[in-house]
Amino acid sequence: MIKKALRRIYKDKLRLLMGRLSEEYNIFSPKLVEGRIIFDRIDDVSEIINEYHTRPVLPVKKLFLPQRETLFEYEIVDNDVIISDKLDLVAREKRCIFGVRACDIASLQILRRFFSRGPGDPYVIGRLSNSMIIGIMCNSVFPSCFCHFTDSGPLPKDGFDLFLVDVDDYFIAIIGSERGNQIASKNEDIFLDANKDDALAIDNKVKEIVSLMKSPPVVDQMVLYDAFVRSFNLDFWEDYAKKCLSCGKCNFNCPTCYCFDIFDEVDLDLRKGRRVRVWDSCHFLSFTRVASGEIFRRNRSSRLKQRVYHKFVYSVNDIGLISCVGCGRCFEVCPASIDLRDIITKVLCG
Ligand code: SF4
Ligand code: SF4
Repeated sequence: MIKKALRRIYKDKLRLLMGRLSEEYNIFSPKLVEGRIIFDRIDDVSEIINEYHTRPVLPVKKLFLPQRETLFEYEIVDNDVIISDKLDLVAREKRCIFGVRACDIASLQILRRFFSRGPGDPYVIGRLSNSMIIGIMCNSVFPSCFCHFTDSGPLPKDGFDLFLVDVDDYFIAIIGSERGNQIASKNEDIFLDANKDDALAIDNKVKEIVSLMKSPPVVDQMVLYDAFVRSFNLDFWEDYAKKCLSCGKCNFNCPTCYCFDIFDEVDLDLRKGRRVRVWDSCHFLSFTRVASGEIFRRNRSSRLKQRVYHKFVYSVNDIGLISCVGCGRCFEVCPASIDLRDIITKVLCG
């Protein structure tokens, strides 16, 4: 049974709440653009979509680690190089990300751990720190969902301020942080007391969603880790490698893949330029090319294994967690129909 504080928000009050929050925060939400759902900034709370039965085109990570981002610009003035970045803007912007599913909330926790290593990445961590997260539980599952297996959903454990569970004509709001608590206290006309049966309603909803998922049988994550370690040299990897096109779609759609390339764009006058970061893919041949021209993962199976092993082994070594949240996006978009759940089942069955 859920242990966090609960409130009720009637559905006809949701826009009122978001309208009030928009006075303080820039609001990002799933919205309809040319027939597709995307996460984006909204100008008017009427654009907010709280019920959607298709996946947003890209996961919410794009709001924290954009596909392409200028890290800083530089200009030669007399004999000086003037550098300007947007860190100040990132630090000041207050954002509210509405409508985030449990798997994407879990992915943000993973990105926070990765980008906090070493000196930390001020862009990604700055955005994570400035963003209030209002999640919504799924009402249905996609055929590819298996967040129960990765322990990432359908309810998030942490990493949110408010999380809404849809029950008929109201939401049960789970308070996940002090910031969420303050919002509830400041808007007592919207956040009503929860009923004693609301915690039970959440439990029932979780059970219903889990029963609809096609997950591999749940195992302890260290059992999974050991099974992957034992399976590194098995023959079946070559079978998958023969099918894989190395297109990188799985990486770009994955909410936890975070690898990027960095390059300089220099203007034709050679006096101005910018340093740019773009998403990269470990499936690309160029990914491990080093200055001498050597490519360390020339073999396609080694690149395919790199992605999968990063999720279930290297990530555990690095941040103590698997970095798959069971969203199923990677195989939903894969043109070769390489289903990660099949790989997991093969690994577990030996
Ligand atoms: S999406 Fe499929 S085909 Fe493309 S790189 Fe990933 S596994 Fe290979
Ligand atoms: S590896 Fe696939 S299922 Fe796991 S988080 Fe990434 S896209 Fe989702």
